Amino acid sequence: MSEEKSLNFIEEIVEEDLRTGKHGGRVLTRFPPEPNGYLHIGHAKSICLNFGLAQQYNGKTNLRFDDTNPVTEDTEYVESIKKDIQWLGFQWAEELYTSDYFETLYNYAVSLIKKGLAYVDDSTAEEIAAAKGTPTEPGIPTPYRDRTVEENLVLFADMRAGKYKDGEKVLRAKIDLASPNMHMRDPLLYRIKHAHHHRTGDQWCIYPMYDFAHGQSDSIEKITHSICTLEFIPHRPLYDWCIDKLEIFPSKQYEFARLNMTYTVMSKRKLLQLVNEKFVESWDDPRMPTISGLRRRGYTPASIRNFCDKIGVQKRENMIDVSLLEFCIREDLNKTAWRRMAVLDPIKLVITNYPDGQVEELVGENNPEVEGGEGSRSIPFSKELWIEREDFMEDAPKKFFRLGPGLSVRLKHAYIVTCHDFVKDENGKVTEVHCTYVPNSKSGEDTSGLKVKGTIHWISVPHAKEAEVRLYDRLFNDENPAIAEDFKASINPKSLQVIERAYIEPDLANAVPGKGYQFIRLGYFTLDTHSTPAHLVFNRTVTLKDSWGKEVKKNA
Ligand code: ATP
Ligand code: MG
Repeated sequence: MSEEKSLNFIEEIVEEDLRTGKHGGRVLTRFPPEPNGYLHIGHAKSICLNFGLAQQYNGKTNLRFDDTNPVTEDTEYVESIKKDIQWLGFQWAEELYTSDYFETLYNYAVSLIKKGLAYVDDSTAEEIAAAKGTPTEPGIPTPYRDRTVEENLVLFADMRAGKYKDGEKVLRAKIDLASPNMHMRDPLLYRIKHAHHHRTGDQWCIYPMYDFAHGQSDSIEKITHSICTLEFIPHRPLYDWCIDKLEIFPSKQYEFARLNMTYTVMSKRKLLQLVNEKFVESWDDPRMPTISGLRRRGYTPASIRNFCDKIGVQKRENMIDVSLLEFCIREDLNKTAWRRMAVLDPIKLVITNYPDGQVEELVGENNPEVEGGEGSRSIPFSKELWIEREDFMEDAPKKFFRLGPGLSVRLKHAYIVTCHDFVKDENGKVTEVHCTYVPNSKSGEDTSGLKVKGTIHWISVPHAKEAEVRLYDRLFNDENPAIAEDFKASINPKSLQVIERAYIEPDLANAVPGKGYQFIRLGYFTLDTHSTPAHLVFNRTVTLKDSWGKEVKKNA
């Protein structure tokens, strides 16, 4: 992707508005989550777009909790949403709540009633739906459509006062029952819900519908560009109608394509099911597409922002390959991760000609990708080492540039060794590999003149620290689980592989969650947030290469 990018369609709109002085050069966007779940990577796209536009055009962004549904909302979600936005690197101008506008919204409704533009309807939900008609047939009025203004004012006040039970009455806009747009056929504005609200408590028993809350909240805050996803296109005439009839600040709605990504689901309702039904450990399980899950997995804010930048802003729905997200974190970690060694499937290597009890402190740069290496750590080396089981083969084929009888490799940061023997247990399983080392072949001061093709990683046995290592795979086997009849049918039973006891460099005891480490030859890892010094746990963020993509092609 080139550095010189053309404007996306929303940037074009903003620049046109700035040119014509539409809002006096002001840009104010908002990010309006409903606090009924944790944010996911789709929300990150909306966050980057809303906050990004404001940054680009010297504007501001409000964080507005769209909390009009008392039953599903919770302060736990409010806190997680704030944390995730800040972690992504954005700061809102004001923290606002739709529930703070309940009184104003109520008064707006009263003013619509006074204009003869809203009425209280006693019909049941089924009756209303039946009378609404179909896209090809006009709706028919219910018996309550022509109530007088006075009657409506009294009934609406009584609704607020708690005189009626849930569902007994609703407030509807009086627009057009023959409109080709079903949303304009006298949409609901208020419903009765006797439920405790996480902020307003029991103050209200009527709650505004999304369509009567969102545009009005935008208007109250004088939002200049209200950006939402494509499914709200048919709501736009109603958005404009309310603002027009109420004669309030003319915020405008613009729609872009939501992010869909392969091998995952993205709706909070579905993600909540995964948590509740224990398919995952929690909202921040590293397999979840949530911001908190990605963070725990080892994704960096920069990698997610970069991903959102790369996918861009479209007017049509599409499906983004999750490999693009993995590409972005790999690219970032390749530059920033500190290099370390770890052995996941250990087998013992004994250097038979190395002095018993001798220990050398070898030096390894933290990050060879940057000048100066960001410092270094010392790596203890001794006679007995752990190496990966798969780095030894009894009957090695020709191009196996690792260990086997008679084969030589370099031990990373250390010496060249040659295998001369191995030991098997009674089941024929190799338990020890015996090598000799070349004393003058030490990395950095090698005068041996020997050349070997392979380099393998290792951990000194007496110095090794133990850790649990978790390897993750995609949570779903189906490329688009969301459209299946039962999205849970394609859950990947092998999405988590736990290695109970891996060996790691002693220095990794200093690891902190969020700091990326490249375990040489194995992938990128980070310390899990539930890790303790007594029981270290590392999560694999991503493998070093996109082996999964290759696997698919191979089998195709
Ligand atoms: P979900 O369907 O996942 O529950 P939602 O749209 O109900 O999502 P909200 O909390 O209402 O969730 O979303 C806040 C903002 O994030 C909205 O402006 C919404 O359009 C946007 N958003 C939600 N999902 C996506 C997505 N997949 N891609 C881009 N933007 C999204
Ligand atoms: Mg929503």
